[in-house]
Amino acid sequence: MSDLPPPTLRLKIDRDALAGNWRALDRLSGRASAGAAVKADCYGLGVDACLPALRGAGAERFFVAHWSEVAAVARHVPPGQISVLHGPLTGADAAYAKACGAVPVINSLAQARRWLDAGGGACDLMIDTGINRLGLAPGEIGDPLIGRLEVNTLMSHLACADEDSEMNARQLATFRTLLPLVPRCSASLANSAGIALGSDYAFDLTRPGLALYGGVPRGELASAIRQVAWPEAAIIQIRNLEPGQSVGYNATFTADVPLRAGVVSIGYADGFLRSWGQGGYLLHGDTRLRLLGKVSMDMVVIDLTSAPQLHEGDWLSLPYALPDAARQSALSQYELLTVLGSRLKQADALLHRTYCGC
Ligand SMILES: *Cc1c(COP(=O)(O)O)cnc(C)c1O
Repeated sequence: MSDLPPPTLRLKIDRDALAGNWRALDRLSGRASAGAAVKADCYGLGVDACLPALRGAGAERFFVAHWSEVAAVARHVPPGQISVLHGPLTGADAAYAKACGAVPVINSLAQARRWLDAGGGACDLMIDTGINRLGLAPGEIGDPLIGRLEVNTLMSHLACADEDSEMNARQLATFRTLLPLVPRCSASLANSAGIALGSDYAFDLTRPGLALYGGVPRGELASAIRQVAWPEAAIIQIRNLEPGQSVGYNATFTADVPLRAGVVSIGYADGFLRSWGQGGYLLHGDTRLRLLGKVSMDMVVIDLTSAPQLHEGDWLSLPYALPDAARQSALSQYELLTVLGSRLKQADALLHRTYCGC
């Protein structure tokens, strides 16, 4: 097959920023070391783009949610460094864990029994201290099944670490009372936001995700964290609007003066959702180019009045500094990363292959 022509949209992953964010979070974790949540394809940014940088920076513990996510991560790190947060939901999961060497996070007595029935071995143990998602209830810790587990990391997960909530101290206190009850190698409580709550929350291992990828869940992290994801799209057509002409589906924008408009190759199928439409803009350097009308599946239209030098083929950036982007789009910083579509990432894979000449 012949080579693909150049794309009209791309996601630049700043691998130096990613590695720097991991090092910053590791440093902020004090005596604890930082792991890395790499679930959901590294929060949408791509395992193949992100894992080498995280590993190169020093990360040695990686967290995914599904068993289906193990193989992609295991191309980059030893399977024994990969923990699967959903745990063994079936006997088939437990058998898969035994076969591939990834570590199950045990979340219930049923999962503990399933793991032991499959032959057991090293596992992590999640205890619920108040988020009421996955995890063993504190009252179940004394069960003899738990005593038979070979627990590597005993963990819990904070519900409100990105807020100044009394819930944080309450979960910390509960976790502390449970720690002596389970023999284990290490303990882990803090996600990205939890790291900013201070050294009390760090224990032996922290589990940042969002902040690795440029998210800032608490102001304390703002100066340490750099933007990692840089989505960009090209102008694919220029058109001149006359007063009275409208733009896009449902004609929600109508020009009242002559206007030079650019059609840009990114839409909601790429994760640029319609919630950006009202008051949204793209960037050329620091210049804001406002969106005209609705976001389409594959395109948006922008006002080029303040950038008359731009032409077809020129690249624009999405305003993807995550804290600002979240305010602007009404999406969470997590959602802004995980919605980024596959067309953007295919382009990054190509780009990086070109850059590194492999
Ligand atoms: C996703 C996840 C993390 C990472 O959380 P961030 O808020 O993205 O830092 C850590 N621990 C568990 C159990 C998770 O599910």
